[in-house]
Amino acid sequence: MPVNVTIIGSGFAALAAIRTLRRMDAGRSLAVTVIAPQARFVYLPSLIWVPSGTRRGSDLIVPLEDFFARMGVTFHQAECLGLREGGRIVVTTQGEVRNDALLIASGASYLRKAPGIDHTLNPCSGIQPAERFRAWLQRWRGGRIAMGFAGNPDEPSAVRGGPLFEFLFCLHTQLLRENRRESCKLTFFSPMAEPGKRLGPHAVRQLLGAMERRNIATRLGEKIVAFREDRVVTAGGEIKADVTLFIPGMTGSPWFGNCGVPLSPGGFFIADEACRVVGTERVWVAGDAGSFPGPEWRAKQAHMAELQAEAAAINLIHTLHGRPSHVTFRNELICIVDSLDRGTLVSRFSRFNLMLPALKSMHWVKKFLETKTLHRYR
Ligand SMILES: Cc1cc2nc3c(=O)[nH]c(=O)nc-3n(C[C@H](O)[C@H](O)[C@H](O)COP(=O)(O)OP(=O)(O)OC[C@H]3O[C@@H](n4cnc5c(N)ncnc54)[C@H](O)[C@@H]3O)c2cc1C
Repeated sequence: MPVNVTIIGSGFAALAAIRTLRRMDAGRSLAVTVIAPQARFVYLPSLIWVPSGTRRGSDLIVPLEDFFARMGVTFHQAECLGLREGGRIVVTTQGEVRNDALLIASGASYLRKAPGIDHTLNPCSGIQPAERFRAWLQRWRGGRIAMGFAGNPDEPSAVRGGPLFEFLFCLHTQLLRENRRESCKLTFFSPMAEPGKRLGPHAVRQLLGAMERRNIATRLGEKIVAFREDRVVTAGGEIKADVTLFIPGMTGSPWFGNCGVPLSPGGFFIADEACRVVGTERVWVAGDAGSFPGPEWRAKQAHMAELQAEAAAINLIHTLHGRPSHVTFRNELICIVDSLDRGTLVSRFSRFNLMLPALKSMHWVKKFLETKTLHRYR
C-alpha cells in the first residue's frame, strides 16, 4: 500500500514542500496529492508592479501541470472545506481525500469587519484587484488617493504592511513618470502610530521620511471608523479619496473553523517549532495559514513560508519512517521595499537588523528573485 501524503494549496509553502519531499524521497515511495482550486502558482510579490503596467497579471501565473508531472504529484482540483478524523480526511468541494500525513499550506484571508470595507480595494488579495486598480488609474484624471493598512488586533503578526509601502512608493514613481504627480494628492493612513515598526527600530523613521520627501501626506494612529465611497472616516476626522486602497489585518480562512482543532486568537492553525499543528497527529502547517512561535517581529512572508515548508516536509518524512522529527526553522525577516526604480533592503535576524538606503541594485535583485522563482516552477 502506498503512503499517501496530501498537501493543501499550490503557493510558496506547498511547492517548497513538494520539492523537499521529493529530494528526500528519490525512490518516490510516497503518493503525493495536492489539493488546490487551480493547478497554478501566483507570484504575489510582483503584484506591486501591476498598477504601473511593469507586469501584467498573466506574467505572475505559472501553470503547474508540468511541475506536478516532473514531481510525480496527483492534482485534485477543489477547494478545501474542512478536516475529519483528526486530519486523516480532507473534505473538499469535489469529495473527500484520505491521507496518512497532511500539510496545510493554503495561505490566509483578510479581515472584512470594518464598516464600508466594500468601498475599498485590497491590492494584495489577488491579480484581479491589482488589475482593476491599473484600469482605474488609466481613466483617472487626477485628484486624491488614500492608501493604508491595519493589523489584526487579536494577533499582531497577522499584518501585511510592507506591500502597501511598495504600492504607495511605486505609484508615486509611476505618476512622476506620467507627468501627473502634481495633480494627485496621496495620503497614507494607518491606525498604528508606528506603522512598519516590525521591520526594525529605524524603519518607521526611514519610511516616514521617504513619504515626506515624496510629498505623501500621513494620518497615523487614528482608529478607522468607516469607509465611504469618497472618504475614509477615522476617529481623527476624514480623508477624502477618489479611491481607497486598504490592506486589512490578516486572518485564517473560514474553512479552518471546520477542522476540529483549536485556532490561534487571529484564526490560524497553531503550530509548534517543528510546524506540527498543535493537538493533531501527522498534520503540519506552513506559510500564512499558520500561527508560529517566534520573536514579536516575525512576519508572514514567502521566504518564511518556504523555510517552514522545508522543516515541515522533513519532519513529515521522519515521522512516517518512525524517526525523531524535531527539525525547526529560523525566524528571518527579509524584504526589499520597492519603488519601481529603487529598492530598500530590510532584514531582521535574531542578532541584527539591517536597513540599507534605497538602491537601484536592489530593484534589480527583486526582479532577479522573481525570475528565479518563476523559472523554478515553469
Ligand atoms: C503584494 C504582495 C507583496 C508581497 N511581497 C513579499 C516579498 O517581497 N517578500 C516575501 O517574502 N513575501 C512577500 N509577500 C507575502 C507572500 O506572498 C506570502 O507570505 C506567501 O504567498 C505565503 O505563501 P503561502 O504558500 O503560505 O500562501 P499563498 O502563496 O497565498 O498560497 C496559498 C495557496 O492555497 C490555495 N488555497 C487557498 N484556499 C484554498 C482552499 N480552500 N483549498 C485549497 N487550496 C486553497 C491558493 O489557491 C494558493 O495556491 C507579498 C504578498 C503580497 C500580496
